[in-house]
Amino acid sequence: MRKISIFGATGSIGQNTIDLIRRDPDSYDVVALSGGQNIAQLAADARALNADIAVTADEMRLDELRAVLLGSGVEAAAGAAAIREAAARPVDWVMSAIVGAAGLAPGLVALEQGATLALANKESLVTAGQLIMGTAATHNARILPVDSEHSAIFQGLIGEDMAAVERIIITASGGAFRDWTLEDMARATPEQASSHPNWNMGQRITVDSASMFNKALEVIETKEFFGCAHEQIEVLVHPESLVHALVGFNDGALMAHVGPPDMRHAIGFALHWPERKTLPVERLDLAKIGALHFREPDLQRYPALRLAHEVLELGGHAGAIFNAAKERALDGFLAHRIGFLQMAEVVEEVLTLLSPSHCRKNAEMTLDTVMETDHLARKTADQVMQKLA
Ligand code: NDP
Ligand code: MG
Repeated sequence: MRKISIFGATGSIGQNTIDLIRRDPDSYDVVALSGGQNIAQLAADARALNADIAVTADEMRLDELRAVLLGSGVEAAAGAAAIREAAARPVDWVMSAIVGAAGLAPGLVALEQGATLALANKESLVTAGQLIMGTAATHNARILPVDSEHSAIFQGLIGEDMAAVERIIITASGGAFRDWTLEDMARATPEQASSHPNWNMGQRITVDSASMFNKALEVIETKEFFGCAHEQIEVLVHPESLVHALVGFNDGALMAHVGPPDMRHAIGFALHWPERKTLPVERLDLAKIGALHFREPDLQRYPALRLAHEVLELGGHAGAIFNAAKERALDGFLAHRIGFLQMAEVVEEVLTLLSPSHCRKNAEMTLDTVMETDHLARKTADQVMQKLA
């Protein structure tokens, strides 16, 4: 039996992970599950999977969690420190699926224990790529990407030499506003931005798909995880969302990963790696699909993509600034405080204000320096949004 823990268990990725685990209960010994506000789901899964401990991120809801777990034998805990402590419990495999920068610390703790980290939380690599890759190397721990594009690249690179890689292409569906005009995008509401044409995901990443901030995070994630130059990374709009990424080699070959838009594909690959096992996902009928389309993204409509390359050129803590400003701008948009296109304006302004002091390429990066930068960028984003409103 493999010991596993799932952080962000109540979310979209967490629930897909639990779906796979529950199909094969005798293979897994579940140690810790964490959630946020969805106490009922957290408790139900902790009971069903017979977890050792269930942790909610919200300290105010500890009594409630304790009450619903009464008599189950599952320990209850709450707060960010409790999540980190749960991540320190020794296991073989950890799913990192908390949304946002809050996912960084538990992932680092899991790597320090030498666990294999299935990394869905892209913000970890964006805010602290050097730190998280360095921690994995120091503790001889493995990171397996769960973001579908990065799982696809990883699979395309099996048995290959990075030196032979010329380029990496990640695809984007184009999100909710793929065919909208710039004028219409400026007036888009959070409700309109929260529906995705192909993928069923958490609300924040769905809105980030419409703005392509999600793809911008993924460009940074690609550079940090695979160690390529940012000039080697390309983005193509691919409305069908069936080709997740392509790796281009020096002999002109392109290796494409094709699969249904179902995250259990990438989660299952990370769960069973280095083996491949049967997964409960749709088998594609390519004859029925008929055609796959690709086009270049319009950088005017998606300024986030341009900003991603600027972040990689800046280096240092630019990723932490970018992500934190993006998270606050997204909060502002969801709260109807700023418009859809203003999210990128806020992020660009925060980067301009903070990069002279926070983007020295050889600056030391620790969890503290990342979190300090994150806090400062959130505060700065709030000030910028106040001026805009
Ligand atoms: P969801 O919003 O569906 O779930 C987020 C999870 O994190 C929930 O368990 C939530 O708890 C918990 N959570 C929220 N805030 C905090 C916090 N401050 N501290 C601790 N836990 C918290 O997100 P997704 O599952 O969609 O995404 C998770 C991560 O995976 C993100 O980084 C996303 O970018 C990435 N990802 C997601 C994909 C997808 O298909 N969904 C694809 C590729 C990457 P609760 O719900 O109980 O409040
Ligand atoms: Mg993705």
